[in-house]
Amino acid sequence: MDTPKTLAEAIVYFADPDNSLRYLTAKRWPKGVECPYCGAKEPMFLSTRRIWKCRTTDCRKQFSVKVGTILNESPISLNKWLAAMWLVANCKNGVSSYEIARDLGLTQKTTWFMLHRIREAMQDKTATKLAGEVEVDESFIGGKARNMHKHRRAQKIQGRGPEGKEIVFGMVERGGRVITGHVDTRKKRDLQPVIRGHVAAGSAIFSDSLRSYDGLAGEYLIRARRRRPCHRVCPWQRPHEHNGELLEPR
Ligand SMILES: [Zn+2]
Repeated sequence: MDTPKTLAEAIVYFADPDNSLRYLTAKRWPKGVECPYCGAKEPMFLSTRRIWKCRTTDCRKQFSVKVGTILNESPISLNKWLAAMWLVANCKNGVSSYEIARDLGLTQKTTWFMLHRIREAMQDKTATKLAGEVEVDESFIGGKARNMHKHRRAQKIQGRGPEGKEIVFGMVERGGRVITGHVDTRKKRDLQPVIRGHVAAGSAIFSDSLRSYDGLAGEYLIRARRRRPCHRVCPWQRPHEHNGELLEPR
């Protein structure tokens, strides 16, 4: 068999460890195997153990195709992971966690987790939306206006008002990907289509300006983001960036 054409073929195909290895290797290192510790190319392949050994003198580490990926130390068996990956990669119209659960005999809770990790791993920003817990925020270029002291805000914005500034809209998947882009205003009509376009329905959206998002409550879980007082997490006394956000000491 070349590569599987149907789900039934995929399940049989991935039950063979050499097929699994070949499939994963090509997915993980399309330009050739690299040491995950030092980045050196062309490591030595130890075929009996299906692992590689780095040739760099001060590295010499051994690694499997699973090291540093979602597949390492997962209680879900490798052939189920691969069949799920095959489904995600081959269903052009997308596949849901419910379909994978039914096809592979797993619970939807498990396949939701798998799907999330697979999409993260594939880093396919155009084809898949952010999912899970997503923080959204708008920032003005040159700093976040609503976090500045009054006199600084006046200096920065200089009478043009926030409408006159470029607004960057950011969506951050917790522990995952980031999408940013420009929006014209912070109003519902500008923000909501961007969210619908980039965040999967059913995700939880965390925001600190809830009013812009209330029209989305039917499709998403809308949550208030808790803003931690800065002095508890940072030692600095001056305004500074914290996790990419401009904060003022309180
Ligand atoms: Zn190495």
